[in-house]
Amino acid sequence: MLGSFSHRILVLNRLWQAVNIVGVKRGFNLLFQEHANVILTANKQYRVMDIGEWIQYSLENQTADGRDSIKTIRVPLRVPKVLLLKHYDRVPIKEVKFSKEAIFQRDKFCCQYCGQTYPEHLLNLDHVIPRDLGGKTSWENIVTSCIPCNTRKANRMPHQANMSIQSRPVRPKRRPFITVDEESVEEDWNYFLH
Ligand SMILES: [Zn+2]
Repeated sequence: MLGSFSHRILVLNRLWQAVNIVGVKRGFNLLFQEHANVILTANKQYRVMDIGEWIQYSLENQTADGRDSIKTIRVPLRVPKVLLLKHYDRVPIKEVKFSKEAIFQRDKFCCQYCGQTYPEHLLNLDHVIPRDLGGKTSWENIVTSCIPCNTRKANRMPHQANMSIQSRPVRPKRRPFITVDEESVEEDWNYFLH
C-alpha cells in the first residue's frame, strides 16, 4: 500500500462508544477482515457501510488531490474517519471512583431530602438505609444531604423520619474511555466523543 499513513481513524464498539484510535494499516485490516464497518459521516448523517460498499463509495468519491485516499493494488480507497466494530462489546471503562466528591457531583450538590442546593461545606453524606440496619456504603445507598436533613433523619429509615429521597441513588454513568485532546479531534469524530 502506498499513500499517507498519517491518517487516524476513530474506532467505536458496537454500542457506538469510542474505544480506540488507530492508523490506516490497522483500520484497513479491521475492515478487510470484516471485523468492522465504516461509518460515513456527512451532513450529520451516519451511514454504516461494509467493505464492499466502501470500495464502491471510494470509486465514486475520489477527491481531486487524493489526499483522503490510499492506493491499494486495485483501487484507490478512501480512508474512513470512523469504524464501527462488529463484535467488540467489551467496554473498557474507567469506573467513576466512589468518593464524597463524586457523590456530591452525581447529586449536583443538592440535598436529596429537601431538594436544596448547598455549597460543599454545608453538605454531608447520608446512608439512606442506616449502617446499623445493614445499609452499605455504596453508590446505591449513599446520598448527598444537607446538615439539617442529616441531623433530622439521624439513624432512621427515611420513612421513619417522615422523609423521602428526591431520586433513587445510582452508580453514575461511566466516564468516556478514550479522551482526545481538543485540538486533535477530527471534525467527523465530534458526535462520537460527546
Ligand atoms: Zn436537606
